[in-house]
Amino acid sequence: MNYVPLGKTGLNVSRFGMGCMRFSKDEKEAVRMVRYAIDAGVNYLDTAYVYGDSEVITGKALKDGYRKKTFLATKNPTWNISTMEQLQDNLRIFEQAESRVMSPADQNLIRSIREVYESKQSIGCTGCGYCIPCPRNIAIPEIFKLYNSYQMMKTHPIDKVVYRDALLPGGKGADQCVYCGACTSHCPQDLPIPKLLNQVHEEFVKSS
Ligand code: SF4
Ligand code: SF4
Repeated sequence: MNYVPLGKTGLNVSRFGMGCMRFSKDEKEAVRMVRYAIDAGVNYLDTAYVYGDSEVITGKALKDGYRKKTFLATKNPTWNISTMEQLQDNLRIFEQAESRVMSPADQNLIRSIREVYESKQSIGCTGCGYCIPCPRNIAIPEIFKLYNSYQMMKTHPIDKVVYRDALLPGGKGADQCVYCGACTSHCPQDLPIPKLLNQVHEEFVKSS
């Protein structure tokens, strides 16, 4: 296995990094494959909260000493708290966390991440759902969620695929908008929803 420096991190990672998005549906086989790759010298894995069960399966694969042999990348979800489960999870974390545990280096890292995130010009939709149901049955919050996710990882086509292969054929795409304006008055974020929907549609139906 060849290894290369990972940017300016000082880490040497395998040239073959294993993406953990599309695991085998057979969990045992997925775990076996991850360990097989690590045994073969792969030391860089990439997963994400939004990859279904990927983080859980990756966690299982990295038991029994395999975690120490790897560098693991994952990504934060791009939405705010929108379910009771997420709220309870956040409450639990803040209940247990002690104050002032972050070092200046931690704070700088978070600041850098925030700057990158804000530079992505995501749509400020909170997913509250006050704009639905739309009389044309457009999945407004879902479309904005896909777009924001796409903005975070532009090389990652899954959000486009979901839009083009699921929402559009199902008649829930932005192309159904008749600009009636019924949604905008309900949006607490004051978003120009029809205009943004059109922007997302244009971006998502482009080839590639
Ligand atoms: S403006 Fe478009 S998205 Fe908004 S309610 Fe009307 S049809 Fe639906
Ligand atoms: S009302 Fe506005 S913020 Fe809420 S889901 Fe609809 S577009 Fe997003």
